[in-house]
Amino acid sequence: MKTIDQIYINGQFLTPHGTQQQELINPTTGQLATRVVLGDAADVDAAVAAAKAAYVAYSRTSKQERMAILQRLHEAVAARSEELVQVMVEEYGGTLAFCRASVQRAANSFLQTKQLLETFDFVRTAGSARVVLEPLGVVGIITPWNSSYGFICSKLATALAAGSTAVIKPSELSAAQTQILAECLHAAQLPPGLFNIVNGSGEIVGNAITAHPDIAKISFTGSTAVGKHIARGAIDTLKRVTLELGGKSPNVLLDDADLDLAIPTAVAAFTFNSGQACLAGTRLIVPASRLEEIKQRIKVAVDALKVGDPANADTQIGPLVNAAQYARVQRYIALGTEEGATLLTGGAGHPAGLENGYFVKPTVFVNVRNDMAIAREEIFGPVLSIISYDSEEEAIAIANDTVYGLQAYVSSGDQARANRVAAQLVAGRVFINGLYDEPLAPFGGFKQSGIGREFGTYGLEAYLEPKAMMGYSASNEIY
Ligand code: NAP
Ligand code: MG
Repeated sequence: MKTIDQIYINGQFLTPHGTQQQELINPTTGQLATRVVLGDAADVDAAVAAAKAAYVAYSRTSKQERMAILQRLHEAVAARSEELVQVMVEEYGGTLAFCRASVQRAANSFLQTKQLLETFDFVRTAGSARVVLEPLGVVGIITPWNSSYGFICSKLATALAAGSTAVIKPSELSAAQTQILAECLHAAQLPPGLFNIVNGSGEIVGNAITAHPDIAKISFTGSTAVGKHIARGAIDTLKRVTLELGGKSPNVLLDDADLDLAIPTAVAAFTFNSGQACLAGTRLIVPASRLEEIKQRIKVAVDALKVGDPANADTQIGPLVNAAQYARVQRYIALGTEEGATLLTGGAGHPAGLENGYFVKPTVFVNVRNDMAIAREEIFGPVLSIISYDSEEEAIAIANDTVYGLQAYVSSGDQARANRVAAQLVAGRVFINGLYDEPLAPFGGFKQSGIGREFGTYGLEAYLEPKAMMGYSASNEIY
């Protein structure tokens, strides 16, 4: 069993002031894996003080200095990528393929942000005014467990690119991943205090960050419920917030879609990251005229998925992260039947032979109405609702009839038609005829999927405050 009893403040691994402990279970085996000592509000105070002190010099660094730091962070994370993958597979239960991609994305986020800096203008003009984009101050970063390295690295990269320093509260469920990632980041030998990491519960450490008067902005990824709580708490000090929250993303299959492409896309979209993904395409909106054919193909594709030990290279779905997540998904599977939906495949309980860990059966419901809870609420497991429509207008209306607006998918054999429908979907990202990865594209949601955008220019600007200067002489450039 691992014991994690240190946090990272001012360039050093320290024993936290907090003494509360939490036990983490290996999701694949159900065995006790890690005991983690949680920080408390005094630890947050120490971390914020370190970040605030470091901010004085760091906020004045040049683009070149920040780019050099991002390069070092990239190298430090990339240097231990195989170990990072192993720890993630073991602690989180993500499949080997997912964890490899996730670690690579985490390491590359520093490089992409460095690249972005090369051409990013911190100084602009508005009429006769000189407008300087200045860092906000100390940033609080609060992340979930479903891709821990990626969230921490991309948010940290953006904060540092902007000239901010950071206090990070990862999910306590990711303690072993946090430990090895912190070791990597430490190896980059940055000036002390640029980033600080405090393990701890949302209730204590998360709330302390939200309330802290010396934190200027919070970047949060997680549930919509907690996002709203943070936004409310942030008001007292008028913190800026970037919130990446939940989704119930529609996947619209138009009646001319090429099913050889659209069905594998639909299956990947709801089972990606074992279904624990905010952008999962969990509502498959299909033409009634092709329902039978689509049902048949979906069932064949889902039944062929390999659920099992995430360390096996051919596993496509691993366990869910913990007992609470397993129970949540079971609750929704039961609810689907109670609400009158029909089970196409999957259903309650563990897949045969996988009774020890938090494995669930990839599950598909048909005859789902868009007003059922399984079509409205984020389940965060591999559960798909198939909803049928009679006209394109109805398909678009169903797709947009949700409180969320993070992501949408559309498939059509006619590109112009796909474009037309995509333009009408209310979502921060729309994928047309496939799955894509564009790290420079803005990411974030309409409606209750969040506030603000991450990544690329839009993400960086969310960490900057414009300052208009009039009567400024450009002869003494500081940027
Ligand atoms: P969560 O409760 O929203 O947690 C996300 C992060 O916020 C964690 O670090 C959490 O810490 C922290 N937190 C919790 N309460 C807080 C508070 N009062 N103030 C400040 N920070 C707080 O998500 P979760 O418990 O990990 O998962 C629950 C559900 O959230 C999932 O079933 C899913 O629906 C959704 N979710 C969405 C995403 C996404 O990418 N959009 C990611 C993960 C989860 P603790 O873990 O210590 O409470
Ligand atoms: Mg939680």
